[in-house]
Amino acid sequence: MKGLMMDRPLLVSDIIDYAAEAHADGQIISMRCEGDRHEQTYSQARDRIVQLSLALEAMGIEMGDRVATLAWNGYRHFELYYAIQGIGAVCHTINPRLSAEQLTYIVGHAEDRVLFTDLTFVPLLEQLKDQLPKLTYVIMTDRAHMPQNSLDALCYEELLEGRPTDRDWPSFDENTAAGLCYTSGTTGDPKGTLYTHRSNVLHAMIVALVTSEAMNEQTRVMPVVPLFHVNAWGLPYTAPLVGAELVFPGPRLDGASLWEVMEAEAVTSAWGVPTIWMGLLNEIKKRGRKPEALAHMVVGGSAASRSLIEQFEKLGVEVNHAWGMTEMSPIGTIGTLPRKARAASFDERMALKVSQGRRVPFVAMKIVDEAGRRLPHDGQSQGELAVRAPTVMGGYFNNPEASRKAMDAEGWFVTGDIATISPDGFLQLRDRTKDLIKSGGEWISSIDLENAAEAHPKIAQCAAIAVPHPRWDERPVLIVVPKDPGDPPTLEEVNALLGGSFARWQLPDDIILVESLPMTATGKISKLTLRSLMQGYVLPELREAG
Ligand code: ADP
Repeated sequence: MKGLMMDRPLLVSDIIDYAAEAHADGQIISMRCEGDRHEQTYSQARDRIVQLSLALEAMGIEMGDRVATLAWNGYRHFELYYAIQGIGAVCHTINPRLSAEQLTYIVGHAEDRVLFTDLTFVPLLEQLKDQLPKLTYVIMTDRAHMPQNSLDALCYEELLEGRPTDRDWPSFDENTAAGLCYTSGTTGDPKGTLYTHRSNVLHAMIVALVTSEAMNEQTRVMPVVPLFHVNAWGLPYTAPLVGAELVFPGPRLDGASLWEVMEAEAVTSAWGVPTIWMGLLNEIKKRGRKPEALAHMVVGGSAASRSLIEQFEKLGVEVNHAWGMTEMSPIGTIGTLPRKARAASFDERMALKVSQGRRVPFVAMKIVDEAGRRLPHDGQSQGELAVRAPTVMGGYFNNPEASRKAMDAEGWFVTGDIATISPDGFLQLRDRTKDLIKSGGEWISSIDLENAAEAHPKIAQCAAIAVPHPRWDERPVLIVVPKDPGDPPTLEEVNALLGGSFARWQLPDDIILVESLPMTATGKISKLTLRSLMQGYVLPELREAG
């Protein structure tokens, strides 16, 4: 048919061009590895992005080439996103918390050509250099801060110097690869998700829509979620699009450092995983108040407990619980309240807020039983969650075997999460398939147990895991970090609390006290490590039986 709309590609470069014009004086503030504070506007950022893109081209980087980053949240990392993607190359963000083995694997699998690193990771790279493929290294700093190194590294600021600050971006198909991110790979090798320009732009617009109250020209957003993992939940695209200012926290992510930066920079909205917000909450308790301007928070990546959400809400911070995955760009659901719930009681609102929220536009969800049959969205039927969207991957990067396993016969991506969906669309995650506890043919949700147990006044943090049982198959055991090691909770005390909402057979059989819980590279409790640490553990009941 003739006379249709223009067929213009959705490209990431249009986001930064738009921000540089329409939100020209919007600020990007960064706490730097060099130890100081830096600020620049969206318009200044675009000038430097253009310079960096020209430097990349001068280094021989072409469409489709992978350029890696190993860096904290800061303006140079932000510039790399746009400069690399603007010329049709692929920005491969690497999680520095991965093991040396995983890191070497993904650099090789991605076939990275250049690696940009923050000062922090120079010693790590020097150690790994001989195992890594041949790479050009660039250290993200200026001449004065360039360290002695054995990487023959180039200097970021020198690459930019003297280059033109304006250009027309190349135009290409919107389905061109833009970003690459590997999952932390709790089992097997890490798997890569390759985002496209189209998926990045659509994701930016989707996130802008569902967070419009918290993200606009009047706000300052702090991504504590790292730029090195799943696009920092899309914030480097959404913030410039809507004109929200960005505050990048740099390398120091402890509660006290975050509190200080939030206070000094008047951060209004902050995004991160539950453990980060637990750290901030401790600092708030010490100081007796929240950072003044903080009004909104997104928490996700793993289940946020009711007690965490309630404590922030009581401080006057609107908390939105979100769920997503690397494979989904990442956001799939967000816990904003529907119109009718806004006037509901605190308790009713909190009950909705602990769920993972409603799907965002264009992300379709279904839950299926073990035979793949669809289950009703009745809030009761529990099944494996699958999703379909223009922001969800259609297969892993160069990994046909993993891709086959990840997609179902209808072409949906199977998440590995077990969930219910209520008639009004609220997603409630029960567990990851591999973390569910199977006892006597019934399932116990580890998320539910942890959530309820964390409300106990003597528990700082906990994890419920399955241990083998000859009769029941598996039984739940609770691994607990006590608030006060001198006064830890007993099994009876915890079960007295849990008994209010769980059947007797669902209650844990034992409590194991620990000083801290092992974490994954993406800030989640590592159930895999816990399970291996618990190998050889015998339940009290069986110990007695000999
Ligand atoms: P990785 O853990 O490998 O880094 P992702 O960051 O993609 O992978 O994590 C995605 C998984 O994290 C989801 O499948 C889900 O199990 C869990 N998750 C994410 N957000 C939430 C949430 N709000 N509540 C419970 N689980 C969550």
